[in-house]
Amino acid sequence: PDLFAPERVNSAGFDLTDEPTLRRIDAARAPYLETPFRAGPIIAGKVTGGPEQPVLNPASGQEVGRVTEAAAEDVDQALDAAQIWQAPVDERAAILNRAADLYEQNFGPIFALLAREAGKTLPDAVAELREAVDFLRYYAAQAQKHPGEPLGKFVCISPWNFPLAIFTGQIAAALAAGNSVLAKPAEQTPLIAALAVDLLHRAGVPATALQLLPGDGARVGAQLTSDARVGGVCFTGSTETAQIIRRAMAQHLAPGAPLIAETGGLNAMIVDSTALPEQAVRDIVISAFQSAGQRCSALRCLYVQDDIADRFVEMLYGAMEELSLGDPWQLSTDIGPVIDAEAEATIRAHVERARKEGRLLRQLSAPKAGHFVAPCVIRVNGISDLKREIFGPVLHLATYDADDLPRVIEAINATGYGLTFGLHTRIDSRVQEVTEALHVGNMYVNRNQIGAVVGSQPFGGEGLSGTGPKAGGPHYLPRFQRPAEPKIAA
Ligand code: GLU
Repeated sequence: PDLFAPERVNSAGFDLTDEPTLRRIDAARAPYLETPFRAGPIIAGKVTGGPEQPVLNPASGQEVGRVTEAAAEDVDQALDAAQIWQAPVDERAAILNRAADLYEQNFGPIFALLAREAGKTLPDAVAELREAVDFLRYYAAQAQKHPGEPLGKFVCISPWNFPLAIFTGQIAAALAAGNSVLAKPAEQTPLIAALAVDLLHRAGVPATALQLLPGDGARVGAQLTSDARVGGVCFTGSTETAQIIRRAMAQHLAPGAPLIAETGGLNAMIVDSTALPEQAVRDIVISAFQSAGQRCSALRCLYVQDDIADRFVEMLYGAMEELSLGDPWQLSTDIGPVIDAEAEATIRAHVERARKEGRLLRQLSAPKAGHFVAPCVIRVNGISDLKREIFGPVLHLATYDADDLPRVIEAINATGYGLTFGLHTRIDSRVQEVTEALHVGNMYVNRNQIGAVVGSQPFGGEGLSGTGPKAGGPHYLPRFQRPAEPKIAA
């Protein structure tokens, strides 16, 4: 019953409607606009040198810094050096809370790097820092409530779309539980990961309890997840990669080593004829296009009840016209770039196909330079037309007849994914009905469907969308440990 008890409060973040706050943020990040950052393997506290590769700003193509990727020997050495965090749980919690404070104090370089390396707009960067801080404090508090034994050496493999929040969340849970962590950040965002590890070490996390191994998944990730020394793996990324990891683990790791995976989604929203159109339009724009659609929670397929569809969709186009695309550093920017050339090409190919088939209903225009994709709407018959997740600002639109609602729900369930879902209706019984029928992790009613809040909206899906337990919820941390059970039979 006290699972959700507020044992701590979430970070206050920044009020971006407050002029002095904006000036304070701008002043704090300005010195880092041109700073060349660097990342490399951090093994037992030492940064290894080696051949460097440039890390590029997705909006400008300019170099943000350089990274040395971990070689096979680095991974091996880090696994040898890794030692569980022996400190008592209260001390671990105090250090993670101190790290949260350090994160908050270092918002200048953090916001700068989130914009330059990951293409994050300021509102996205603010939300991301808050989430990272909340994860640190939340899991610290959870560990104090749920004593358990660590599983050993934990591999944390994180995505580029939340290079600070998810990177930190995975690590915080594993460390709070007393494990040692080998963190493998996404290839695209090693610099922010290195900054985070530095702050965690400065807060007091021992060097052998947290090591960083930048590099690509097929090499560094594969080596880590098939090493018998590893006690568990936490992964956020594609469903396909989660399956590769599971196979490697099954072959090489002890049978008890858990995989905690948060994977893809094919998320839908239903807007019925009783919905408040202005509110629904706003929530659709946020759900589909904020963060350039690069969230696994983002809305991919919108179902609008046919009798309101024409006028509703016109309103949606009108709202889309208000969006401004551009340099994420600029305060006026709503939507930044997608992460890299490969992402841009994949999304563009999908949109091109729809254009050729006469299904591209509307597309904004995007800046020519940089990896920008203009938000667009593509006509589909239903969610079953979507063969896979398109990780960008692409909204698919279908209409449905009121009598067909059960079939729409069936089609959503039939995708096999089950991450987020949005419903706009003013009929209470429909909320009940749809909630019971749909297999999804996070259902949002009469609001947008992104931006789950740590502690109050645990986040995670079912089926192809992940293993659970939900991040930022009470069942997450226990998966990173073994329950403390007596050894001696009495
Ligand atoms: N937790 C994030 C949200 O609710 C999404 C996480 C992800 O995209 O991996 O928006």
